[in-house]
Amino acid sequence: MPRSASHSSPRAGDPRARGGSPASPWLLTPGPLTTHPEVRGAMDRDWGSRDPAFIALTARVREGLRAVARADSRHTTVPIQGSGTFVVEAALATLVGPADRLLVCVNGEYGRRMVSICERLGRPVETLVHPEHEPVDPAELARRLDAGPAITHVAVVHCETTTGLLNPLPELASVVRDRGRALLVDAMSSFGALELDLGRLGAQAVLASSNKCLEGVPGVAFAVAETEALAAARGRAPSLSLDLHAQWHGFESNGQWRFTPPTQVVAALERALERLALEGGPEARRARYEANARTLVEGMTGLGFRLYLPPALQAPIILTFHEPELAGFRFDAFYEGLRARGYAIYPGKLTRARTFRVGCIGAIGPAVLEGAVEAAAQVLEALGLPVPLPAS
Ligand SMILES: *Cc1c(COP(=O)(O)O)cnc(C)c1O
Repeated sequence: MPRSASHSSPRAGDPRARGGSPASPWLLTPGPLTTHPEVRGAMDRDWGSRDPAFIALTARVREGLRAVARADSRHTTVPIQGSGTFVVEAALATLVGPADRLLVCVNGEYGRRMVSICERLGRPVETLVHPEHEPVDPAELARRLDAGPAITHVAVVHCETTTGLLNPLPELASVVRDRGRALLVDAMSSFGALELDLGRLGAQAVLASSNKCLEGVPGVAFAVAETEALAAARGRAPSLSLDLHAQWHGFESNGQWRFTPPTQVVAALERALERLALEGGPEARRARYEANARTLVEGMTGLGFRLYLPPALQAPIILTFHEPELAGFRFDAFYEGLRARGYAIYPGKLTRARTFRVGCIGAIGPAVLEGAVEAAAQVLEALGLPVPLPAS
């Protein structure tokens, strides 16, 4: 079946996808997302955690994730139970030792979260802060590293989901690599769609989860990391469960998860990886998300909404719009109106501007976004607001 056919219907009752009704809306959020029925269908059986079939499934998923990252023979995949933050915490606890020093590039909530994790762990941390509407500047990173020989690790967020801003990962990675420091990449909202070549980046670890651009269900996060760095980190993590070395060692010794695995989630992730390959890999997925984003931008700007970021900085993952500066506009009412029409959007997370976000990712095509724009026009009218909104 051609791709467009499996993603095109925006209405409830489409047997190919579930969404578009008040009870089960299209999830235009940063995750969990609208999933394909085949992915949910893969969960329709039970697995014993020590069953050879599940051990083989885990091995295939680890290998599949390594391939999506375009890792080379130096890297291995370590899955861990939980949401994305669990693997970020496990990676920082395991890869950054008490005698190391981490520089976190911060231009949004997810950079700040890594700083909070380090503070909790008591790991030496400093920040390179940019405003939320600006990408991390490679030249500034270079200056910081040149002035800070004690910095051993650098952490970067690939797509800052706070705004949807794309940081210049290859340029930042090359600055870090040239200075012999270790790079940790939070690729949570880009993995599987935006270009990532771990072999070429030379990052020590890339971190992501099952339920964003991979279009799996939530419950598994993972690191694709240098085996050597994992092997050297024995006993370093202060946490028993969030210990990436011990987790890796478990997989390497008997192929099993250390603690109860989310078996159905892993099965769904394998199906999601198969669907990614079927679609044509990350490049094809990116193209679909770009078509989604274009449809949304054209439709929403046609209604008079304004994008928060300059288009050149905006990744086709999640778009941030300014709230209209009109007395009659209340985000809650706008949200409820869309929700009642079968579309779930996301509040803004910015420290300064009043914004909201609409996701472009998941098992959806442009027709779903067209439907969302049409619904937004109806909601504005129902709120008694002019359509299009007046320019402010
Ligand atoms: C989603 C996300 C995370 C992890 O969030 P969870 O809610 O724990 O899954 C981390 N970083 C980025 C950039 C994200 O988009």
